[in-house]
Amino acid sequence: MTQTSFDALGLVEPLRLALKAEKHFKPTPIQARTIPLLIQGKDLLGIAETGSGKTAAFALPVLQRLSLQGLPRLPGAPKALILAPTRELASQISERIAAYGHGLPLRSTVIFGGVNQHRQVKALKAGVDVLIATPGRLLDLCAQRHVRLDKVSILVLDEADRMLDMGFILDVRKIVAQCRRERQTLLFSATMPSPIAKLAHDILDAPVRVDVAPVKIAVDRIEQLVFFVGAKEKRALLDSLLADRDMDRVLVFTRTKRGADRVCRNLLQAGLNATALHGNKAQNARVRALDAFRTGRVRILVATDIAARGIDVPNISHVINYELPNEPESYVHRIGRTARAGAGGTALSFCDHSERPYLQAIEQLMRSPVTVGEHRFAGPSPTRLCPKPRSKPAGHAKRRSRSRSRRFAGAPRPASSLAKSKCAYPH
Ligand code: AMP
Repeated sequence: MTQTSFDALGLVEPLRLALKAEKHFKPTPIQARTIPLLIQGKDLLGIAETGSGKTAAFALPVLQRLSLQGLPRLPGAPKALILAPTRELASQISERIAAYGHGLPLRSTVIFGGVNQHRQVKALKAGVDVLIATPGRLLDLCAQRHVRLDKVSILVLDEADRMLDMGFILDVRKIVAQCRRERQTLLFSATMPSPIAKLAHDILDAPVRVDVAPVKIAVDRIEQLVFFVGAKEKRALLDSLLADRDMDRVLVFTRTKRGADRVCRNLLQAGLNATALHGNKAQNARVRALDAFRTGRVRILVATDIAARGIDVPNISHVINYELPNEPESYVHRIGRTARAGAGGTALSFCDHSERPYLQAIEQLMRSPVTVGEHRFAGPSPTRLCPKPRSKPAGHAKRRSRSRSRRFAGAPRPASSLAKSKCAYPH
């Protein structure tokens, strides 16, 4: 079902006006398919990723149903609960709820750990209709009796697989057990590992299942290059690439928090405008870093995978994988930070000798090779450094014969003009 406008989805006027104000003129596929059903109170299992428009897909029905119920607002007893794995994602959802719910007489607040709880407790006491929370802080505040969940009649679990990765699954189950039995439950997950499938089975009642694959779509719009480089040359390669002023909003990924700090320090030493974001930073430092990046005050954000999911910063021109992730799915999440909302983008990956197996896993997951870029920092030529051919999916041989490599001379020139060379995957 493809709707051409939001008008046909059955949303109340204040929400339709808010959508216009947000310049959302046409529903995304997940919105078109789920909103009419969620408004009716159905449970949902959404296989969906950030970038699909899933936040509005659940936020709009939540707001609509609460506004039509018109139940009184009680201190510390939210009626809808949205659980998110990270503070950043929780904050983003909270912003979206505030924007979409602008014209409705509903109140929402967000709670997460790493900051003083005082303001959160105050907001809860004043009464909220929609609570957005990370699991740890929510359980803390429940234990302190600042919040109770027995009035929660709409429960949304966002990025459930991420909650599993972060070890929150038991907390999630404890939270679900405190919500009303009679409720509407929505579960979103990009992947469906068995503990999540089991959770979905246990907590959803005859759910509508929606499966959208935006990651694939986004990946198609991203120009990807891999540079084979020695670990010691990565710093010089990064400095050299960043001399290109077309790289105006750059997200650099490392595997470790220490790595992120080190790369950020090196960039600052080189006189570049950079900041770091990772889980060891205090909450206010994380907010400041993200804000500076989002508003363009800082050109380069160096982050661990915490920033790979959930974070929605528009117009990231380049993602640079300073270190390749050891989980291939993370690569897709990382590069998906560029090419948001229909735009294109570029993802450049540095691959040293020890990271070859990671690249191999990434290419297997994506079912296509990443084009090889050349640069002046490599010792042996990139051609010799190319990984050995591996078993390819059907149709791969044809693609490979057309595959390219691109040269980066190290001189500051636009990434878009990186030159082609002979062969990316020689036998
Ligand atoms: P999400 O997948 O919820 O993280 O949304 C990704 C981005 O798409 C966010 O910046 C949203 O504001 C934006 N977005 C969501 N729905 C629409 C829509 N129907 N039209 C245009 N942009 C949208």
